[in-house]
Amino acid sequence: MSTTVLPSYDDVVERYAPVIGLETHVELGTKTKMFCGCPTDFGGEPNTRVCPVCLGLPGSLPVANKAAIEATIRIGLALNCSIAPWSRFARKNYFYPDMPKNYQISQYDEPLCVDGWLDVEIVGEDGQPELFRVGIERVHLEEDTGKTLHVGGATGRIHGATESLVDYNRAGIPLVEIVTKPIPGTGAKAPIVARAYVTELRDVVRSLGVSDVRMEEGSLRCDVNTSLSPAGSAEWGTRTETKNVNSLRSVERAVRSEMLRQAAVLDTGGRIVQETRHFHEDTGDTTSGRSKETATDYRYFPEPDLVPLAPDPAWVADLKAALPELPRLHRRRLQQDWGLNDHDMQSVLNAGAVELIEQTVAAGTTPAGARKWWLGELSRRANEAGVELSAVGATPAQVAELQKLVDAGKLNDKLARTVLEGVVAGEGSPSEIMAARGLEVVSDTGALTTAVDEAITANPDIAAKVRDGKVAAAGALVGAVMKSTRGADAKTVRSLILSRLGVEG
Ligand SMILES: [Zn+2]
Repeated sequence: MSTTVLPSYDDVVERYAPVIGLETHVELGTKTKMFCGCPTDFGGEPNTRVCPVCLGLPGSLPVANKAAIEATIRIGLALNCSIAPWSRFARKNYFYPDMPKNYQISQYDEPLCVDGWLDVEIVGEDGQPELFRVGIERVHLEEDTGKTLHVGGATGRIHGATESLVDYNRAGIPLVEIVTKPIPGTGAKAPIVARAYVTELRDVVRSLGVSDVRMEEGSLRCDVNTSLSPAGSAEWGTRTETKNVNSLRSVERAVRSEMLRQAAVLDTGGRIVQETRHFHEDTGDTTSGRSKETATDYRYFPEPDLVPLAPDPAWVADLKAALPELPRLHRRRLQQDWGLNDHDMQSVLNAGAVELIEQTVAAGTTPAGARKWWLGELSRRANEAGVELSAVGATPAQVAELQKLVDAGKLNDKLARTVLEGVVAGEGSPSEIMAARGLEVVSDTGALTTAVDEAITANPDIAAKVRDGKVAAAGALVGAVMKSTRGADAKTVRSLILSRLGVEG
């Protein structure tokens, strides 16, 4: 463990210029695997979704999945790429237990989509939206590997494990790799630009309906390249590639932590080694992995068992014409529909709440009602728990139901927060929790009148004062009734008390 004292972030970005780059893998949601007919659904018994092709048995021959090619072209088009009129698959040779063929079918120097860009928005120092255009180097298609499971140890890692098991169900699932061009010029904003890019990319891919792009389940995986060079230098520094970055928040943290680490190495006259590093969610640090292979280590060569891809230009044009409204435009439209100014919309974006609010509104509540819960109570809980808002434990349908109960006067805001606590704890739907915990606002006047009469009888002195015209004293009675009814509407209680005591409200 290094005990080097890290320089401060502000100090680092004053003296060094970062260049970042991102390689993102998206697991496509096709019905079958990339080169065989095995099903792709998640969660089968280990090694039940395999066949001679995806197990790499001798004599088996791959056939490319058309739906996967179509999905990849659509991703490329949405990222403003050119679609290669002719491209080829290649074999990437390496030996690893989770890869049964000992090579991965991928694309190397002839990818399907090249040279595009994606605009991402961040908040500038003045609070106004600031646009960064991230260049896309390539989008290519490959197959996923199987999964290795290390058992017998405490951590699930290979160290300390007594044995390792391999599940090939995932081997051969189509995977799209999206590689950015190096992104210079972001300065202190490098970590937020990296996060904003992955967020935008995720939203674009999701809008195409080709993957569920869930980082926590591994259908969106991200490697983050970072390098530093002295400020003003024309040359870029040596980059490292950080793996295991499993959430949007971690993308930002990984860039930041790697910038600090590299600056500390450079400050002491050290040299950055080109290597892969592993990000650790718990500490927010990276540790050294293996030294990075170069392309020649993989002995790429064209895959002899597959014909080249030559998508019909007319088909590509049709796919382009049929692209859905892309997220940035979609967001602009929502902002108008919801009547939000730039600042309020930015708060929604920062909270990662756009889709959640959109779905909550679609489930039947007002934009203001939806926004209140997602940006208020639920954001607070997500921050406390250190999770994405979408993983906080409440669904848009539940939030809509909660707000509808408030609108109908069955819950006041305070009770609604208690109900929400139950929702987040997984106790059921808002109405179930309201019933189970007896949280409904007491609006039945019969029951209320009884409670009011009890409070008056129990507090004769106060009642006398109110009768004498000291209306302010009624507050104590209101409090007593609220306590005994656990959340009756205060206004109703107050006017009932005054009318029982014969005083004008
Ligand atoms: Zn198969």
